[in-house]
Amino acid sequence: MGGSIGIDLGGTNIAVGLVSDACDIVSRKDVKTMAPRSARSITKTIVSLIRSLLNENKLTSKDLSSIGIGLPGIVDTKSGELLFATNLKLSHVNFPELFHEYFPNLNVYVGNDADCAVLGEYLAGEAKNYASALLLTLGTGVGGGLVVDGKIFRGGDGLGIEPGHIVVETDRAVKCACGQWSCLETYASIQGLIRLTEEVLASEGDSVFLQSPYPLNAIRIFEAVRAKDPIAEKIHARYIGYLAAGIKTLVALYRPHIILLGGGLSNASDLLIEPLEKAVRRDIFSGDILPVPSIRVASLRNDAGIIGAAKLYRESSL
Ligand SMILES: [Zn+2]
Repeated sequence: MGGSIGIDLGGTNIAVGLVSDACDIVSRKDVKTMAPRSARSITKTIVSLIRSLLNENKLTSKDLSSIGIGLPGIVDTKSGELLFATNLKLSHVNFPELFHEYFPNLNVYVGNDADCAVLGEYLAGEAKNYASALLLTLGTGVGGGLVVDGKIFRGGDGLGIEPGHIVVETDRAVKCACGQWSCLETYASIQGLIRLTEEVLASEGDSVFLQSPYPLNAIRIFEAVRAKDPIAEKIHARYIGYLAAGIKTLVALYRPHIILLGGGLSNASDLLIEPLEKAVRRDIFSGDILPVPSIRVASLRNDAGIIGAAKLYRESSL
């Protein structure tokens, strides 16, 4: 068998997988990124992981169709250059050139990590049988990507969509890391949920479930919602409201067939999917005439980025 290598290069972990033509991860290796360190040093680590994957599967680099790398930052997919990655503290790195020093005969493709994740879900996960899919990741930040008819939507400048930076509040309530005010990320990320909670607690008084001395975190907040704590329910309603506003904007713009939620907060799917579908369906544009996209939790989790990266080569032939 052949297959291709998919690499999910994150700020904390590096995952490298040998992916079959049928999109199965045949075997994988995971190591800590140990950032910050040089791109050359990271490449060396990944190359040794690829070599041990090949050895274990009795393959050589000649058996591979390509290498694909998902990167946590802004990627110029035409030149192959990673322009900037905050978590890795790297800028202007051309990983394909670095990899060619070790594998001169292999094509090396790069993509944004969220774009790779949505491509993985589209090809092998929850969005497998849909013509288009939009992924929204709810984690430290809010990210995502869009695949339409098998192709990652990259827009005019090649950078794809940034669903976390849709403005969902008209007042200049919270400054976003991107420089804008009141982006979806400032409400729907983990930090956004905690900030919303602090805001509601300050105006509504304390809650038995959310009171100090413990620091707030998403698990405690969601547990309080499940326990039907009235203040937690208010926080939950506001959270769903902002997320639904963002989703409605995305649906009005792209009309994807399915919307997937990923990232750490999507673990609380019992508190997200049903109220979100209800809120989105209630007053969405043409909701009474056209089908409304279903909202589901992404199913491949950490595998999605590896599979998507391994399949970036498809883009060149679409
Ligand atoms: Zn923003």
